[in-house]
Amino acid sequence: MRTPFGECDDLFVKIARCMFEPMNADSDDDLTDSITPDVRKVLDRSNFFASLDNLLCPTGPLDQREHCHGDHRLSEAILRASEFDATELVDIFEVLRSKGGSCDCEILYNVADQSRLKAEYWRGKVTEGRQARHPD
Ligand SMILES: [Zn+2]
Repeated sequence: MRTPFGECDDLFVKIARCMFEPMNADSDDDLTDSITPDVRKVLDRSNFFASLDNLLCPTGPLDQREHCHGDHRLSEAILRASEFDATELVDIFEVLRSKGGSCDCEILYNVADQSRLKAEYWRGKVTEGRQARHPD
């Protein structure tokens, strides 16, 4: 495809579309909606949510616990280890964001059907109003 910057690959086109034509977000939303059930199935099958839960809320020693950095670095590491390619990652994160998963911990709070992290958060709310989410 031809852009103001010359020939480029699909990923760049996708990024450029987001940057320069935010008003066209509707068609992207439709695409995201249409792939959401399948993306969820694939993520479930690859144990993605459980793997992320194991990092953010491990059953073992607490010093092995990872913390959310307000981005998707843990999710991305898991997905790359599961051999999803860059194009698939773009679609997956689009789906996760559309469901409220704007960072690693919010994927477990908002997107996963169940997670230890979410259970722990609500248990903390009940007992001491503890802040389990990252500072954002
Ligand atoms: Zn977070």
